[in-house]
Amino acid sequence: MKTYFQKLFTGTKQEFVKQLESCLKKKQRQFIITANPETFMVGKKDEVLNRALLDPHTLVVADGIALVKTSKKFDVVCPKITGVDITYELFELANKFKKSLYLFGSTKEVITKTVAKIKKDYPNIKVVGYCDGYVKDKDQVFDEMVTKKPDVVLVALGIPQQEKLIYQNLSRFQKGIFVGVGGTFDVFSGVKKRAPKFFQKWNLEWLYRIVTEPKRLKRFYQHNIKFVFRILFMKKG
Ligand code: UDP
Repeated sequence: MKTYFQKLFTGTKQEFVKQLESCLKKKQRQFIITANPETFMVGKKDEVLNRALLDPHTLVVADGIALVKTSKKFDVVCPKITGVDITYELFELANKFKKSLYLFGSTKEVITKTVAKIKKDYPNIKVVGYCDGYVKDKDQVFDEMVTKKPDVVLVALGIPQQEKLIYQNLSRFQKGIFVGVGGTFDVFSGVKKRAPKFFQKWNLEWLYRIVTEPKRLKRFYQHNIKFVFRILFMKKG
């Protein structure tokens, strides 16, 4: 677990955005994991996710307050950079530099609305392909994606499916920024509400999600509560 914490991006948010811009301009390949306690807990059990997290080429950012706080135990100081933040930054950059985008994941309704909103709000982005996340053969979507050579790829299938699929297909691409963005399209499309400002300000987005979607409670307990206790009782060295 400690090695995961040591992989967290410790620069500022501005430095992170600069890095995104540089990757886009230089046409580099970059996989970004927006990590939360669930990512680390699943990584301990899942071999592919574990390799993805530890790969020196993978950029791992702390997606929420839980990792920002617990990382202090290992003397790691990192900013909170969420999947939603990265998505908006990438839309801005892709629009500014007229880059191409491929979107994969979420329901048919959400993905259609997401694409329509991107075309309206970011007219310079070239949406070279998109697909909902409920198709039978998800690898086949990557076959198509490879042929489009996108500059940015956002995959919204949830943890760990999105990270594993990206990691297993990454070497097939010469360039591109790849991010697993979880429920971001649900929010961006307007189908689901983002936590109100109050919850965002006090880092309580997680509480808002549980209250509005109580079925998340079991998952929250399994990954977040257990995670906090595991870190609390873990030796530092
Ligand atoms: N999803 C999908 N295909 C699947 C399972 C999930 O496209 O087989 C989508 C789902 O519609 C949602 C996203 O993946 O848009 C996962 O959202 P969630 O909020 O659960 O993400 P996480 O909490 O893992 O970030």
